[in-house]
Amino acid sequence: TLSTRLATVASYIKKGAFFADIGSDHAYLPCYVCMHDDTARAIAGEVNKGPFKSAIETVDTYKLSGVIDVRLGNGLEVISPNEGLDHLIIAGMGGTLIKSILAGGKSKLENMERIIAQPNVDAKSVRKWLRDNHYFISDESIVKENGHIYEIIVADKIMNHLPVDNAPTDKELLFGPVLLRNKSKNFFEKWKHEHDKLQRVINQMKNAKVENKEKIIQFEEELSWMEEVLQ
Ligand code: SAM
Repeated sequence: TLSTRLATVASYIKKGAFFADIGSDHAYLPCYVCMHDDTARAIAGEVNKGPFKSAIETVDTYKLSGVIDVRLGNGLEVISPNEGLDHLIIAGMGGTLIKSILAGGKSKLENMERIIAQPNVDAKSVRKWLRDNHYFISDESIVKENGHIYEIIVADKIMNHLPVDNAPTDKELLFGPVLLRNKSKNFFEKWKHEHDKLQRVINQMKNAKVENKEKIIQFEEELSWMEEVLQ
């Protein structure tokens, strides 16, 4: 069985999808999806040889090599813009890395209807990239597993590229527009923890010999948003 985290990611992949899972490691996600949906097809991308070999082994074990293609390469260089992919999954990495993978392969995303991202930290930078690149956040989840809280972001392409009047604000980029509307138990737990952490960071910055005033102002604004949402 798959982790709650990856099962939640999988739940956002539409039936019959042709998806790329970048940074697939053991390829557990594509194997799970293709075992439960015999019309789905996938590409598992890996930059490192160890995980690349593990991915091939898992795919062979489940006899899925006819529907899952395992490819070695950096980020989106393993996919082509005209092979018919409709979903892109990037899970289990930092948000900054996810953002740079998306930005580095922008030309591959012309027809990518849905991007599902699960940043371990810094989800804000992923949401910002999505907002600035014709994707709108259609759904989000926040799940807890083994003491960790994970955010999952589902973004769909704005096909006509028209500007949207409900583009997320900076506050929504931080908390997630959907997560902020729902304010679940996990959401409160995460932001209580982040609030206390940021408070300590600000205190340390204020005590430092060289004060970074701009950064302190930005952090204090975020801290006040956290206080608002925690009320
Ligand atoms: N996606 C899986 C999950 O969520 O459980 C695996 C997460 S694992 C922590 C991150 C994987 O991404 C590693 O196997 C690593 O080799 C791979 N990776 C890191 N940077 C990458 C890149 N630029 N392109 C492709 N794979 C990458």
